[in-house]
Amino acid sequence: MTDKNKEMTIFQKMTELSLKHNSINLGQGFPDEDGPKDILEKASNALFELSNQYPPMKGLESLRKNISNHIDTHYKLQTNWESEILITNGATEALAASILAMTNQGDEVIIFEPAYDSYKPIVEKAGGIAKCIPLLPPKWELTYEILKNNINSKSKLIIINNPMNPIGKMFKTSELEAISKIVNENDMYVISDEVHEHIVFDDNKHIPIISVKGLEQRSIKIGSAGKTFSLTGWKIGFVISTEELINTISNMHQYITFTVPPNLQEAIAYAYKKPKKYYENLKQTFEDKRNLIYKILTKYGIKTHLPEATYFLNIDYEKKYPGLDPEDFCLELIKNAKVTGIPISVFYNKETNEKDVSKLIRLCFAKNDTTLIKAANQIGEYLY
Ligand code: PMP
Ligand code: GLN
Repeated sequence: MTDKNKEMTIFQKMTELSLKHNSINLGQGFPDEDGPKDILEKASNALFELSNQYPPMKGLESLRKNISNHIDTHYKLQTNWESEILITNGATEALAASILAMTNQGDEVIIFEPAYDSYKPIVEKAGGIAKCIPLLPPKWELTYEILKNNINSKSKLIIINNPMNPIGKMFKTSELEAISKIVNENDMYVISDEVHEHIVFDDNKHIPIISVKGLEQRSIKIGSAGKTFSLTGWKIGFVISTEELINTISNMHQYITFTVPPNLQEAIAYAYKKPKKYYENLKQTFEDKRNLIYKILTKYGIKTHLPEATYFLNIDYEKKYPGLDPEDFCLELIKNAKVTGIPISVFYNKETNEKDVSKLIRLCFAKNDTTLIKAANQIGEYLY
């Protein structure tokens, strides 16, 4: 690996390899179809109808109001749009601003593995110490005891990703209650990255962190329009928390990016007014795709984890190539099956090296059905 490759995120790296070998890219998580045309039109019109100068630092009034209404409609939660919502450049900036705001030199920050790649580097840049706790299959369960064993006087913050990328886990009420108990007992805070809140399957229900009893004053919810409206390139994210915490996080946001393009904010303000039917369709579309790829892969005898949420599914290659390193396996998959995935091992600390998870490969199924069928059969024929 060159130094340049070492610095790249796994998503960039796999995308480059995918292009080089002309393989189907089920690596980086993005849908192959753009979001609704009416939202695109709104953005285009807003370029001419709205001012193109700096919008308010915390975000357009229309967007903050509509997110507040959206949260009320979906979760029956009241938020003050003026003081409790901040618009950011995607969830990535929301995470950076929130982690920087909440972490002081030497603070310990709990992260659950497999962990989305951006958490740990930001915690470390903020001067914090990332305490990585591995969750393990098949249940990936978090208990109060696990938390208790990893807490000490330096523990300050817990970061969860709910639903969890890359494994598609949704945190249960009992797990969130355990977090609430530990947070309150130890004067801590919790950040919940909920970018996949609307991509949940079967009868599962997403539980926003700000609704958990005991966390009303100690939690930060992060969301993004990227996954909800299939517009990942727009980078419109948001933070919801108490007035005090939003002010602290805004202090970071004003020096990181300060504002977010006004026309895209206006179009997303419009998008958040979509009726419940839109969200039902979104869920059904991805649920059908999940079932389609799962059925083909399992028909080949591939061990496949069925996700509860997100548009990612994991396959296990251990049976076929037990000795192969996960990144090397991904390269073999690209070259031979002409399909790109993401090795789950990179979402774990080097020291963790858990046997159970090291042979999992994440596949993004937010693609059209023809592509999915082709990719799944190519993987199946290569592996079996
Ligand atoms: N967190 C998670 C878990 C993600 O999967 C992603 C990518 N959608 C992000 C954060 C970043 O979101 P955004 O593209 O809005 O910055
Ligand atoms: N969130 C996307 C994923 O999980 C990747 C975003 C990125 O490339 N950093 O695939």
